[in-house]
Amino acid sequence: MAATTTTITTNGTNPDSKGFVLTFGEMLIDFVPTVSGVSLAEAPGFLKAPGGAPANVAIAVARMGGAAGFAGKLGADEFGWMLAGILKANGVNVEGICFDEAARTALAFVTLRADGEREFMFYRNPSADMLLRPDELNLDLIRKAKIFHYGSISLIVEPCRSAHLKAMEEAKAAGALLSYDPNLRLPLWPSPEEARTKIMSIWDKAEVIKVSDNELEFLTGNSDIGDATAMSLWHPNLKLLLVTLGDHGCRYYTKTFKGSVEAFKVKAVDTTGAGDSFIGALLSKIVDDHSIIEDEPRLREALKFANACGAITTTKKGAIPALPTEAETLEFMKNYA
Ligand code: ADP
Repeated sequence: MAATTTTITTNGTNPDSKGFVLTFGEMLIDFVPTVSGVSLAEAPGFLKAPGGAPANVAIAVARMGGAAGFAGKLGADEFGWMLAGILKANGVNVEGICFDEAARTALAFVTLRADGEREFMFYRNPSADMLLRPDELNLDLIRKAKIFHYGSISLIVEPCRSAHLKAMEEAKAAGALLSYDPNLRLPLWPSPEEARTKIMSIWDKAEVIKVSDNELEFLTGNSDIGDATAMSLWHPNLKLLLVTLGDHGCRYYTKTFKGSVEAFKVKAVDTTGAGDSFIGALLSKIVDDHSIIEDEPRLREALKFANACGAITTTKKGAIPALPTEAETLEFMKNYA
């Protein structure tokens, strides 16, 4: 059966408003066991949790009071409608979403076993997000983005890969700042080599890049993740390279200065979404004033705020329910001893 698509046009957020951040890529449902420390086979039941890093980032921006949108493809099924509804309910523009009548919304069953191993099982054979075609992109919306943010899962297979490349090009041509968080998910790639090659294939396009310490090690093949290794990822178009270090905060690199910003100490219960919360908060701070990137004291302030958002996100289960508002974050920072 040929896939047909429909686009929804109603939404809450006006992309013409100042500082529109558009994220691109996958949104899916994570199924997590109702009890912890079991294998997928042993799990007595699963809870559904909306996920997908680019969608989380859009919601993180919206929670900050920013204008955000998400572009990608979902299945024309109950889960697809549900996910679009969650975005809308959070004030995220959904005019960049289309629905595939033939393929389902992606599912990921994920568990942390008692032996500490993470076990994944994906339903992507293929899933709707993988089938987004270049001709289905909402170019008018993409051209309104002041920041266009993406990951690497949308680079894995065609036709989504071509759609991703076209969307990036259009956004850039219209003047958007390109922001890249590779968000490595090795089990989704045919091989680690292909993951590295394809992640790096668009490296020199982005002006803001955020990697985690693990990603830095994977991409460079160097277990010493110091400044020299981070700087080996530098490219001439890059304005800001961020390395997140979990409970050790983050490091930042620009053309003219570098440094680190400490984490906030919290009792972490689930780190899912910390990186998305961090980058969403930072993008919401710089979207109306890119000059922050070149001003170290202001950049450090923005990164301190982003670290606070990341920390708060680890104190609650799940990603989306744990993304803080600006007011919550300011309150948290004020009360932090
Ligand atoms: P990712 O989710 O991309 O792997 P990190 O886990 O490094 O990213 O988290 C992003 C940011 O969130 C960190 O830079 C830090 O500021 C904050 N953060 C993450 N984990 C913790 C933690 N356990 N305690 C305090 N802050 C944290």
